[in-house]
Amino acid sequence: MNIPFPKGLREKWAAEAGPTTRMLIGGEWVDADDGARFACTDPFTGQEWGSVPQATETDVDRAVQAAHQAFEAGVWRHMPAASRAAALRKLGDLIEARAEEIARTEVRENGKLFSEMYYGALAFASDARFFGALAETVHGYTIDRPLPGFSAWTRREPIGVIAAITPWNTPLNLLGWKLFPALATGNSVVIKPSEVTPISTLMVGELIAEAGIPSGVVNIVTGAGAVGQALVSHPLVDKICFTGSGATGAKIAAIAAQRHARVSLELGGKSPNIVFDDADIDAVLAGIASGLFSTAGQACNAGSRILVQQGIYDAFLDRLATLARNVRWGDPLDPGSQMGPLSSTAQLAKVTSYFDCARDEGLRVIAGGNRPDHGGFFVEPTVYADVAMDSRLMLEEIFGPVAVVISFQDEAEAIRIANDTRFGLAAGVWTRDLARAHRMIEAVRAGTVWVNTYRVGAHTIPFGGFKASGIGRETGIDALDAYTEVKSVWVNIS
Ligand code: NAD
Repeated sequence: MNIPFPKGLREKWAAEAGPTTRMLIGGEWVDADDGARFACTDPFTGQEWGSVPQATETDVDRAVQAAHQAFEAGVWRHMPAASRAAALRKLGDLIEARAEEIARTEVRENGKLFSEMYYGALAFASDARFFGALAETVHGYTIDRPLPGFSAWTRREPIGVIAAITPWNTPLNLLGWKLFPALATGNSVVIKPSEVTPISTLMVGELIAEAGIPSGVVNIVTGAGAVGQALVSHPLVDKICFTGSGATGAKIAAIAAQRHARVSLELGGKSPNIVFDDADIDAVLAGIASGLFSTAGQACNAGSRILVQQGIYDAFLDRLATLARNVRWGDPLDPGSQMGPLSSTAQLAKVTSYFDCARDEGLRVIAGGNRPDHGGFFVEPTVYADVAMDSRLMLEEIFGPVAVVISFQDEAEAIRIANDTRFGLAAGVWTRDLARAHRMIEAVRAGTVWVNTYRVGAHTIPFGGFKASGIGRETGIDALDAYTEVKSVWVNIS
């Protein structure tokens, strides 16, 4: 792919004030009820830029009321599916036309590599078109005379008002996985982006009306956890679709349970990369580079637990340490950079606290383990070897460029270690033995298993977690289930 790396953007950004944005409520661009705002911070420079409204409970209520009224009025859900499909396709085209600008904004917000964010912006556009196409496929089925004298059929209907709450690490793709299927099936949506990455989401809001989506169907409120909490607590929110940490997901599920609101959760992971002694080690290292270091570990499916078969353990550690030491970290806008900074000071504090923990636990560090001398929120790509199963670094999601490595003897032990975790988001299996690969696919308890590759994805393939990694699936045709209720219809024909 030809990636249009921006040139001279840092100088331009340094010379100009960032945008002063507003929220989208009921088709109007508005400030917060009390006028409060908060600033965004560029993780590469550590400098503040741009600001967004700090929504109040009143703003959240107005957004939910607008979504509810749009739903009740049926302006979107009663539109022919072909018209909703056309609007989503147009939205995809509008996103693609602004892909470069969207990607730059995301980089400025979360510090991830421009190449990743640009590719993501194009995928975001094609996801809109994909769910546009699916809009015309939503249907029930007919059962001819399930009982004598009766005809029956099912309908798939939208759920109502969807609260879409997103994290900062891949803000727009994770938004699209909620927004597009919700719209395809006729729901109204209130979006609450992460407080770290609100501006890119507001940019998408600018395209909603132009795509032909009626006022009030899509609303955006900005702010931190308290705004999210007000949203999920609102009695008119029918379903919450959330991507974020397990701790927040548990709070949301508890609130939703009080009023039996529906919930889909995409949560954290501690995904194993399982390396057998017959694996293509160059391919494994490429998988670890793209699946862990290139995102600075800030991917839910990061392959951060590396299980290596005993016979190749020492040689593999040497190569992994060399890989980690040679990762070129730097400006995410620079085509030469292989890793950007962490996204926020909070994330920096979290990851460096694991460096302290590793020192306290006496872990063997074979690469990194420090914060380099730089004004941005960088940490070194880091590898710890011989990590025990009860180490906090083995048990917990770090969400930084930190690998923990452990050895195993045989397939049975690899399976036991891989599954000995509360998470179940993804796994990588590296072997040339086809039969073994198939046994591992079945044995590993995770929502995605990659064999001899890592972190590839497509909008046709579902994504989600087993165990504490989530409830439900996003993308693929399965995603439509999360945004529809099934209604059964009985007609007495006797
Ligand atoms: P987070 O849980 O801190 O925040 C996520 C969102 O929830 C933000 O918008 C935040 O403002 C909001 N929020 C916080 N407290 C809330 C509350 N009490 N009620 C409602 N909303 C609230 O997560 P994060 O740090 O932004 O994201 C990182 C986490 O996301 C990691 O654990 C990562 O694994 C996970 N993640 C999962 C997937 C997946 O698909 N499974 C994808 C990306 C990220």
